[in-house]
Amino acid sequence: MRVFKFGGASVKDAEGIKNVYDVLQKVGYEDVLLVVSAMGKTTNALEVVIKDYFEKSSALKSSVQEVKKYHNQVLLDLFEDDKNPVFKAVQAHFVELEYFLSHNKSPNYDFVYDQVVSYGELISTTILAHFMNHMGIKTEWIDVRNFIKTDSNYRDATVDWDLTHKNISKNVKRKMLNITQGFLGSNENNFTTTLGREGSDYTAAIFAYCLNAESVTIWKDVPGVMNADPRYFENASLLNQISYREAIELAFYGATVIHPKTLQPLQKKEIPLYVKSFINPLLKGTSVSKGVNLEPYLPCFIVKRNQLLISLSSIDFSFIMEENISEIFSLFHQFKLKVNLIQNTAISFSVCVEDKFDNFNELNAILSKKFKVDYTPDVTLYTIRHFNDSAAQTVEQGKKVVLKQISTETMQIVTVE
Ligand code: ADP
Ligand code: ASP
Ligand code: MG
Repeated sequence: MRVFKFGGASVKDAEGIKNVYDVLQKVGYEDVLLVVSAMGKTTNALEVVIKDYFEKSSALKSSVQEVKKYHNQVLLDLFEDDKNPVFKAVQAHFVELEYFLSHNKSPNYDFVYDQVVSYGELISTTILAHFMNHMGIKTEWIDVRNFIKTDSNYRDATVDWDLTHKNISKNVKRKMLNITQGFLGSNENNFTTTLGREGSDYTAAIFAYCLNAESVTIWKDVPGVMNADPRYFENASLLNQISYREAIELAFYGATVIHPKTLQPLQKKEIPLYVKSFINPLLKGTSVSKGVNLEPYLPCFIVKRNQLLISLSSIDFSFIMEENISEIFSLFHQFKLKVNLIQNTAISFSVCVEDKFDNFNELNAILSKKFKVDYTPDVTLYTIRHFNDSAAQTVEQGKKVVLKQISTETMQIVTVE
């Protein structure tokens, strides 16, 4: 079986959905499982719905309406006949969403978040499956929540591999085109959970692992994995092949082309990962597999913006020792701050972190009781894998460097712009 993942950009409008059909015509669709994200920026639009819901804003109705209007336009562009059952099927999802919003009693933001954002994927896959049927490809629409079981850590749920493996290996039908949602799972009470933003790549890897798939292909709006994000680097080049190790490093440092959790399950079973262009599906793209060399061998640039540089020093000039460091890290973990770089001296400890959940103020109150805390918001973290002098120069030019760290293969530079 092959597992394909189509992300939001690939299904952002009717043209995109028609293009998925074209891609499948070119590369085959028998014995395939499609993992699909919400269309375009739907997850962001649903985040606005959640914000309006919690702020009890009068804008709630119109933010839901936005999401409806967007999907309805896609339906009108795809299906000439508004008697097609897809209209009712999509409508049913919206009725459920609105029912949830008017009846929910839980004040738990993360719980509400997952129940609401999940409609993005439920609706995109409903539309795609109906369109494939309309075009004569028989599909099996799978509710992923009956397959991927997780704990109840809403918005960043951990997969229960045993249960998930059982569900998938027993119940996914072979020899046909299966369509399912990326990003979602469910907990033991069957409430919807999500695997973290951009988590659909990971879903593809979970299915591939449990199905012993032949390969995973992630279809992108770029030719493959490049040595830099082409949005920010004019001369980015395609990497023809990279190892799992290299891909994990790139994803870990923030190359958003692959979600970092995707590689580990694939690497365990040596399932090859292809990253290809959904615009030119017959081009080779990037192949990620075991132990191969980076080809071509180039410095790879990764940019992470909106980082927070925190520097902690002891108030009384005492050393920052293992027990302090362990306490600091456990606090970062507790407040869900992701640490991207660490540097320490005898009496100070600097980290570059990402505060996705806006928890730093709360954490700072705790840290300030024990340490002198200095911080700079909005710094940029550049990582260069396989760096050389000219690569470093490219990054540093015209910027104020506030921290720099070098290891054998990797240079990291923190700048304020
Ligand atoms: P999806 O629709 O699958 O969610 P994303 O938009 O998340 O796709 O990922 C594709 C984008 O990743 C590209 O448009 C590109 O701007 C960005 N990107 C970041 N780093 C890289 C890289 N090293 N190589 C290719 N693309 C990259
Ligand atoms: N739709 C989700 C997101 O935008 C998951 C994904 O696209 O991978 O984060
Ligand atoms: Mg994405």
